[in-house]
Amino acid sequence: MKYISTRGRSQPLSFEDTMLTGLAPDGGLYVPEAVPTLSAADISAMEGQSYEEVAFRVMRPFVGETFTDEEFRTLIASAYAGFEHVSRAPIKQVGDGQWICELFHGPTLAFKDFAMQLIGQMFQHVLTRRGERITIVGATSGDTGSAAIEAFKGLDNVDVCILFPHGRVSEVQRRQMTTPSDTNVHAMAVDGTFDDCQRHLKDMFADHAFRDEVRLAAVNSINWARVMAQVVYYFTSAVAVGAPVRRVSFCVPTGNFGDIFAGFIAKEMGLPIDRLVIATNQNDILHRCLETGAYTKAGVRPSISPSMDIEVSSNFERALFWAHGRDGDAVAGLMADLNETGEFGISDNAMAHLRSHYDSGMADEATTKATITRTLAQSGEVVCPHTAVGLHVAGQCAKQDTPMITLATAHPAKFPAAVEEATGLHPALPKRMADLYDRSERVTRISNDLGELKHIIREKRIL
Ligand SMILES: *Cc1c(COP(=O)(O)O)cnc(C)c1O
Repeated sequence: MKYISTRGRSQPLSFEDTMLTGLAPDGGLYVPEAVPTLSAADISAMEGQSYEEVAFRVMRPFVGETFTDEEFRTLIASAYAGFEHVSRAPIKQVGDGQWICELFHGPTLAFKDFAMQLIGQMFQHVLTRRGERITIVGATSGDTGSAAIEAFKGLDNVDVCILFPHGRVSEVQRRQMTTPSDTNVHAMAVDGTFDDCQRHLKDMFADHAFRDEVRLAAVNSINWARVMAQVVYYFTSAVAVGAPVRRVSFCVPTGNFGDIFAGFIAKEMGLPIDRLVIATNQNDILHRCLETGAYTKAGVRPSISPSMDIEVSSNFERALFWAHGRDGDAVAGLMADLNETGEFGISDNAMAHLRSHYDSGMADEATTKATITRTLAQSGEVVCPHTAVGLHVAGQCAKQDTPMITLATAHPAKFPAAVEEATGLHPALPKRMADLYDRSERVTRISNDLGELKHIIREKRIL
C-alpha cells in the first residue's frame, strides 16, 4: 500500500514513511493510493468481536509491510490496554433512533487517545528498529496536545513539544499538558490563537533545514495514521446498531475534519453509512461552506467547545481531494487561493460530491448549553459541550428509520464550568486523575513568533 499527496507533487511513500513524515513535502496531506474494501460478510463477522480484533481487521490493509500480523496485534493491544471501558468505545441510546458513541474512556478523556495511543506504540516500534530519534511537534486547541503527551511521555527516542494557545484551553486541558514530569515532554503556551500555532507548525515543516536538523515529525490530525485509527470505531458502533444490514448515519463534532474524514474512509471501505453530518459551533466555516460553496475565513471566536474553535480545517483538504476526482492540481489551486486571499470557491461538481456524503449544521453557545440541559433531562446522560453541539445538529438532520450515532468526543469533566452551568452538576474526574489540580505545572510561555519557537525547540531537545 502506497500513500500519495493531495497536491499531487510528492513521491508516493510506504505506510511507515507516511507516518514518520506527516505533512507531504508539497504541502499536501497523504492519502492511500487506493482505499481497501471489506465485504458485507467481513463486516457482519465483526459482531461480538473485541474492539482490538475489529481494529486489526480494519487497519491491517493500510499498514502493508510495516508490521507483521503478530507485531500489529501486539501494538493494538498495548495501545488500548489503558482504556477504562472494556468495549473501548461503548454506545448508548439517548433518544428515539439517537445514539452516542463514547470516545472518552482513554487516558486523557477525549477521542484523540484512540489514534494517539496507537501512534505512540507504532512510532516506538519503528524508531527502535531504525535506531533513530525524532522531535514531535504538535499544535493543539486542547485535546491533541495532552493525548500526544500521554502517548509519548517517557519514550526513549522521542521529544514531544506541544504548542497551545495561551489562555484559550480549559484548565483541565492545560493541566494535562503541563503536569507530566517526564523530561522529554515540553509544553509551550503561545500568545496567539490555535490557528497561529497551526500556521507556525506548517512553517516549521516548510523549513527543510530546520526540519532535518531536529528530525521533526508531526502527529497532528494531518498524520494519516491518526485518520486510520479513527476509522475503527465507525465500524464497531455501526455494527452494534445493525450494520451492514441497516444503513447508519453519524454526526461528528468537527474542527480539523480528521474525525469525520475517518467516517468517509469507513464508507469508502464498504461500511453502509447514509449521511456524515458535520456539526460545528459558532465557528461555522465548514457549515457555511457546505451551504454556499465558499470557504471564507471570518475570524475565530472562543467558545465553550474550544476543541472546535478553528477556521483552517486541515483535513478538509482530503475531502476536497476526493470531491475533485483526486486531482492534486485542483486542490493545490484552492489552497493557494486560501493562502493569498483567505478564501476559495468550490465548483458545482465538487460541491455535488461533498453534498452527496455530508450534511452540516451549527449550534451557537446558547443552543449548546440548552442541549446539555435537555440531554440530561431526556436521557440521564451528562455530555460535554462538543458532544452537545453534535447532538443538537444530529436532531436537525435525523431521518426516520436510520439510526444516528453522535460521536461523544470528550468526557464532561474536561469542561466542568460549561457543564455545571447547564446542569447544576459538577462532573467529577475519574479516580485515576482526581489529583490533577494538585500536581505542579511546567510550561514555557512564548510570543507569537516563529523564530523564537524554533530557538526554544532547539534548546529543549534531549540530544
Ligand atoms: C479534536 C476534537 C474535536 C474535533 O475533531 P476534528 O478531528 O479536529 O474535527 C471535537 N471534539 C473534541 C473534544 C476534540 O478534542
